[in-house]
Amino acid sequence: MISEKVQRIGASPTLKISAKAKAMKAEGIDVIDLSVGEPDFPTPENIKEAGIKAIRDNFTKYTVSDGILSLRQAITKRLKEDHGLEYAPKQIIVSAGAKSSLFHLVQALVDEGEEVIVPAPYWVTYPECVALAKGKAVIVRTREEDGFLLMPEALKASISPATKAIILNNPSNPTGGAYAKDQLLALAEVIKGEDVYVIADEIYASLVYDNFKFTSFAALGEDIKKKPIVINGVSKSYSMTGWRIGFAAGPAEVIDGMSKIQSHTTSNACSIAQKAALEAYDGPQYEVQKMVAEFQRRRNYCLMRLAAVPGLSCFKPQGAFYLFPNVKSFYDKEANGAKIRNSYGMAYYLLKEARVAIVPGDAFGADDYIRLSYATSMTNLEKSMDRIVEALGKLKTAKKVKRVALSNAVTRVKKTVPVDVMADARMRDALVAEMESHLGYEGRYEWNVRIGGAVIQLRTNIAHLNDFWLENFAPAPGEADVKPHGVIYAVDGIAGREPRGFYHEPTRTGVLVNTDLYASLRGLAIGLAMDIAARSDGAGSAGAVRGMSVDVDGNGLILVGPPGTKKTELFFELLADPRFKVHTNDIAFVEIAGGRAAADCVERKLYMPTTAAELDRRLAPLFDRSKCENVVIHKESCQDLECQRADDCRLDRGSAYCYKAAKEAHALLDPAWLGGPAAAVKRTNLRWLILLRNDATSPAVLELSKDEALRTLEAGEAAGAKKALTGGKPQPYYNPHLLGATPEKLEAQKAFFGRLLDPVRCVLFNSGAAGADKLKELISTGR
Ligand code: PMP
Repeated sequence: MISEKVQRIGASPTLKISAKAKAMKAEGIDVIDLSVGEPDFPTPENIKEAGIKAIRDNFTKYTVSDGILSLRQAITKRLKEDHGLEYAPKQIIVSAGAKSSLFHLVQALVDEGEEVIVPAPYWVTYPECVALAKGKAVIVRTREEDGFLLMPEALKASISPATKAIILNNPSNPTGGAYAKDQLLALAEVIKGEDVYVIADEIYASLVYDNFKFTSFAALGEDIKKKPIVINGVSKSYSMTGWRIGFAAGPAEVIDGMSKIQSHTTSNACSIAQKAALEAYDGPQYEVQKMVAEFQRRRNYCLMRLAAVPGLSCFKPQGAFYLFPNVKSFYDKEANGAKIRNSYGMAYYLLKEARVAIVPGDAFGADDYIRLSYATSMTNLEKSMDRIVEALGKLKTAKKVKRVALSNAVTRVKKTVPVDVMADARMRDALVAEMESHLGYEGRYEWNVRIGGAVIQLRTNIAHLNDFWLENFAPAPGEADVKPHGVIYAVDGIAGREPRGFYHEPTRTGVLVNTDLYASLRGLAIGLAMDIAARSDGAGSAGAVRGMSVDVDGNGLILVGPPGTKKTELFFELLADPRFKVHTNDIAFVEIAGGRAAADCVERKLYMPTTAAELDRRLAPLFDRSKCENVVIHKESCQDLECQRADDCRLDRGSAYCYKAAKEAHALLDPAWLGGPAAAVKRTNLRWLILLRNDATSPAVLELSKDEALRTLEAGEAAGAKKALTGGKPQPYYNPHLLGATPEKLEAQKAFFGRLLDPVRCVLFNSGAAGADKLKELISTGR
């Protein structure tokens, strides 16, 4: 497993979109790529020549790590001429692109937990770069009315004792907004007394329009000069993105820190590219001005075209080569059945409909916008504007807006908690006293339910658990004269305690501390009810089977097996046949009497992973109307690596939620919704116990003798099942709801299953070799 910090970050969305556009082009689709962040001009001839000369001169070995002196001198000269900045060569470090300087800088400055202020919309790399240094990016929104600039008051409000730095991108990618000198001075005033660095990313400094006067943050005066580290490079100004040369200029102490890191990462920037960059900085500068004039013309053209689109507004940028139009008024509109809900949906629509690649604003922390780059030929811009205008014109207000207001609770804790079995009565009493004192009476929920024959009371301060509890189990009288057989405390908000479960069997008390996940409560309640049922019986004629069961003509079949044995698939394949009725998807409480095993479903609803929507098309619309838990509504919460790898996400395409994105997502589905009330039964006579395995070699069906069946059940392993699929963990009787597997309890299980296997036939079924049809055949032929 890769590290958590890397799991949390995403690959650069701009690079991903460009790659997609390139792939479409390779398929012969005429896509215009407005997602790229690089000038379309060739690198000037004199610069290329300098690179070629470096190769001829054999300047192809390691250089000093910080960059060759002549280049650092040329950089100091350029900074002085262009921006009036005085730096000594030792205050400069040359690296493999400005990105690399930025990465080293953030690593050099930021310790774990320290904050870096990042104004949004931000360049995609900033938050990820901070996260990789284990710092915390504090995102501060800016407003379009303010030119997307950070206002001094907002800066002031976001500074905390943990603030280490602020990243100021001037002019900005993605908005093109740029700070005038007085605006920078106002920001400098705020941080004057503060111990914070300013990461001044000025990579677009030379690309400004309409005679805008660019000012470097480091040019604000000698007293402020210790704060900024200027980042710049040749990528944008000289059309040299592929050469990978950038630099940082700042206080020697910081540059030394970066230098240490660089000596261990890239050693030095490419020697040949350094020579070329030297020519860029030292040579004639008129190519830059030609490029700026051309960019300004293109910017004006695109702004003019976009201004004519009803519902679209676009800020007029002073710099860089991006436009950042606001497309919010198109959200919730549709064309050809495709509805657009967010900037990802808009990007997808424009790619498919207009064959124009743009970047969704959400990637920059501003979902109402999209970013398009005008660093492409005028011909391309004309064509793409035509196409964008036409595609947007096709978007119409959705006729019947069927909004699914998903009833979805997102829990803080996502995994079921382990349950400790307590032997000590004093420990139980102390724990109960602690829970009672936390519960108080305000915001306390108390409700009795019936699970099998047991009355169980929940005492909780978690509204979500109370809600699911009421929905899932049948109510039992809650008057003072009804004493519950068991009590469960589920208490949240206890400081200093890890999420955990406890169980004290003699007093039938369950405790859940600081966990709001319904799976934990449900599991504990079922375990408790199983104990109560087994103990009140004593003779082994009552117990529970963990599995998915169906009824056919009053006879029950239950599928039992660990994950990876296609239990759910078979369950739904059987249910697709109208002869089969749904009984339970998890646990059957069984009483054996008179040669029959009467199995009860003890829940009103099926608490079902929503990933099942992939198996049966009926489910998704039913989940839409069910109470749900932890259904993914934000892409960041998605765990589906398959979709991520394929870069195919329905949330990107405008879906408001995704049922398959997380394993812990559940719905409480009414079984009667599957095929009507007649197709759901609460009781069946169990006749078949199907133990599942899944492998390539075993026979599809193997009839088990009673002893063989008992041995397999006791081991709790699917014979022949792949360990990787079962998680490698055997579970006695395949039942995770068993609370505390003491020898006595396992004996009791054995006695129960021993009796169950008289009226019930047990078959070992290989789901790797056969499907539901084979099961049906087994039932009908009785073989
Ligand atoms: N900063 C900003 C704001 C950028 O947009 C980019 C390039 N997209 C960079 C830095 C990195 O440039 P380089 O090619 O020098 O790594």
